[in-house]
Amino acid sequence: MVIGANVANGTSNLPLTPLTPEQELASRVRLGQALQMSLEPAEVLTLFYKHIQSAVSISGLVFKFANANPDQKIGRECLHHCDYRLTTDEGYLGEIIFSRSKRFVESELITLELLLSSLIYPLRNAIRYQKAMRLALLDPLTLVGNRAALDSALSRELQLAERHDHELSLLLIDADHFKKINDDYGHHRGDLVLCEIAKGIQSVCRGSDITFRYGGEEFVVLLGKTNADGAKIIAERIRQQIAQTQVSHNGKAISTTVSIGIATRQSGKLKEHINDLFERADTALYQAKAKGRNCVVSSDDVLVAQ
Ligand code: GH3
Ligand code: MG
Ligand code: MG
Repeated sequence: MVIGANVANGTSNLPLTPLTPEQELASRVRLGQALQMSLEPAEVLTLFYKHIQSAVSISGLVFKFANANPDQKIGRECLHHCDYRLTTDEGYLGEIIFSRSKRFVESELITLELLLSSLIYPLRNAIRYQKAMRLALLDPLTLVGNRAALDSALSRELQLAERHDHELSLLLIDADHFKKINDDYGHHRGDLVLCEIAKGIQSVCRGSDITFRYGGEEFVVLLGKTNADGAKIIAERIRQQIAQTQVSHNGKAISTTVSIGIATRQSGKLKEHINDLFERADTALYQAKAKGRNCVVSSDDVLVAQ
């Protein structure tokens, strides 16, 4: 269902040239088939934009998603525009705005509305699918990436680092004495502390750094194009941030600390297996625990010391 049509700058009084019922049906069938080709909202909108040109010439299309997706802009925005709010029985999907330099005539608006009725369900399905895919890669408690997301991001980042011969660092972060937090304050408070740790990590990372929950009270941050010195600076920032973080419990503050192990893929190195990078980060983390916790150790320093 399509509601809320709006035409800016009015429509002209040019003669109407509606499609014949046969043309209209054929056009909608073709469009419907084309829109089945993708489950990516951006691609569905691009296919829609291309396919409607033969029925109504458009210079630009903007889609403002009701969810957090950024606006999608295709073509270029022009003076005259008309917009529609797209809604299904499950709710509002977003607003679509067509524009071009010539005024829209009434018959074109009718055609656009018909074509939009072919867009709405494929677009809804694509948005749903995208949401399901995102959820499948998110840790439901802390809302950072989960283990599956880490596996695919790490193999992608490692391949990129090898192809362009970049450095790549991995931080393995483990909450200290976390069992005691559960024992002292209960599992629910423990969960809240885990959420605060995830927030704390993200608050001091750069936008390009990606955070994951690796398992129970362990997190991983991937730092693209970052050498061991850069990784130490970020790891130290994370350590300090978490040490300052507090969760309140019956008027008392629960605080926690983390230990961090760093492994870096150095440029100029031959292929390195994901497991090797992890193993080095794990060894460094083990050292950080042995040093008394609440500290950062880089695997480079471990190797030098050995
Ligand atoms: P260490 O400093 O050596 O890492 O000590 P630790 O107590 O953190 O390590 P240990 O591996 O002994 O215990 C991990 C604890 O983390 C025990 C487990 O119950 C807790 N944990 C794991 N996952 C969750 C979770 O999802 N929620 C809560 N509340 N606790 C969790
Ligand atoms: Mg652990
Ligand atoms: Mg721990």
